[in-house]
Amino acid sequence: FAEISLKDIDQVAQSSFPLCMRHLFEKLREDHHLKHGGRMQLGLFLKGVGLKLDDALAFWKAEFSRKVGAERFDKEYAYGIRHNYGKEGKRTDYTPYSCQKIISSVPSVGDHHGCPYRHFSEENLRAALGRMGVSNRALEDVIDRVRNKHYQLACTLTFEAVHNTSCDAGINHPNQYFSDSKRILE
Ligand code: SF4
Repeated sequence: FAEISLKDIDQVAQSSFPLCMRHLFEKLREDHHLKHGGRMQLGLFLKGVGLKLDDALAFWKAEFSRKVGAERFDKEYAYGIRHNYGKEGKRTDYTPYSCQKIISSVPSVGDHHGCPYRHFSEENLRAALGRMGVSNRALEDVIDRVRNKHYQLACTLTFEAVHNTSCDAGINHPNQYFSDSKRILE
């Protein structure tokens, strides 16, 4: 049973992806490309929320084809996606990244992976939160947590503001953010 299908992936990204994954998703739609770190972070997240391998290949191919062409996608990028699903190489069933792992990653220029609370400038973070519908008081509370380097707490406050409910357990994994969101919205 897939929790997420291709036809409603854009809507679900809007409503239930944490900011780190929303950002990657939007950049992929915009640039039709993501670098390795972004492909890993978003790809494993999507696998974790139940996107099937065939759908994942179709999803990435639709975007990358517009940038590098279908043939180059099949040659250079499809392998990595099958690899994430344990279908190539050592056939390891890779697990989605936790917040801790994402927060401690070190994105370079042109990379879009990482945790926006940790890696965005304050200006960009404010704009991104505004687009998620976080405003005024809640937004200042989030920024306050970020200034104190409490990135997961900042994400928890965002979750609470966006869903208009409390999240006592806190956010420690992007896939937990997703499943908690789905539970509330359904
Ligand atoms: Fe993603 Fe975790 Fe950062 Fe939230 S705290 S944006 S779920 S890495």
